[in-house]
Amino acid sequence: MVNIIVCVKQVPDVAELKIDPLTHNVVREGVPSIVNPDDRIGVEEALRIKEKYGGRITILSMGPPQAKAALFECLSMGTDDAILLSDRTFAAADTLATAYTLARAIKMYRNDFDLIICGRRAIDAETGQTGIQIAEQLEIPHLTYVKNVQVFPDEKKVVVRREVEGQIETIEAPIPILLTVMEGLNKPRLPNLREIIKSKKKEIRVVNATELGGDLSLYGLKGSPTWVAKVYPPPPKPGGTIKSGEPKESVSELINILAEKKLIVKRVE
Ligand SMILES: Cc1cc2nc3c(=O)[nH]c(=O)nc-3n(C[C@H](O)[C@H](O)[C@H](O)COP(=O)(O)OP(=O)(O)OC[C@H]3O[C@@H](n4cnc5c(N)ncnc54)[C@H](O)[C@@H]3O)c2cc1C
Repeated sequence: MVNIIVCVKQVPDVAELKIDPLTHNVVREGVPSIVNPDDRIGVEEALRIKEKYGGRITILSMGPPQAKAALFECLSMGTDDAILLSDRTFAAADTLATAYTLARAIKMYRNDFDLIICGRRAIDAETGQTGIQIAEQLEIPHLTYVKNVQVFPDEKKVVVRREVEGQIETIEAPIPILLTVMEGLNKPRLPNLREIIKSKKKEIRVVNATELGGDLSLYGLKGSPTWVAKVYPPPPKPGGTIKSGEPKESVSELINILAEKKLIVKRVE
């Protein structure tokens, strides 16, 4: 048996993403929301591990009440239950406060886990920090950029392949452990009708700050030592060597430059 927690963030569809120019926060109102793509990969991997060894898969999320839709989607993929941490006190959290909140819920409700799976990154704020900070809060090891996982429940270990700087690293590590997973690990399944019907009976437990307890000053804005000072587009790149905007002329210019540098020999017709 392998008990797994998958941390799932509901994110705005980035194609529709807007930033509030005054508060510098992501504007979520009116923007369609989806399950963060890396987290769907995490759910799929958890399901494959459960199909092999049994166990329980809990989906954990911090977000507004509408994040229930994301949890429902994960339940209808075949996971067992879900916990949504939702309260105004949790709002405006940076990654440290987010990790504190998620880690606190894990200690309170699912401390018997073998694996925690997070996405490598969320496509909205995209820091890639939350999973690692959860592992630190729980004082367990973590492995990031995971592209392949083998679990050995009897030996209480995982063997993981991770992609770093174009290289593949294979690491054996003890469980419990937190993994951050990325594209290429698997192809997430679509919910099927049987699971959708079954998921209607599954529990999404909504937990507020009072129920979660702990140090309330470590949640949300109060618990966030960092904040967004400014949001701005990167400065445009200075023009390159090729001056012409027309493809045909650009090619001639490039050929001339390469010929001048004696990198090619220009054939004279
Ligand atoms: C300096 C700073 C200030 C911010 N201020 C605000 C603010 O005022 N208001 C606001 O709405 N947001 C704010 N954010 C965004 C907020 O901190 C992030 O949404 C959140 O902390 C997750 O960070 P991320 O999106 O970079 O996730 P990543 O670290 O890229 O996510 C990695 C993985 O962690 C897990 N994960 C991340 N977030 C959650 C979650 N909520 N529930 C479950 N799993 C999760 C997922 O598995 C995800 O794939 C701020 C971020 C920063 C860096």
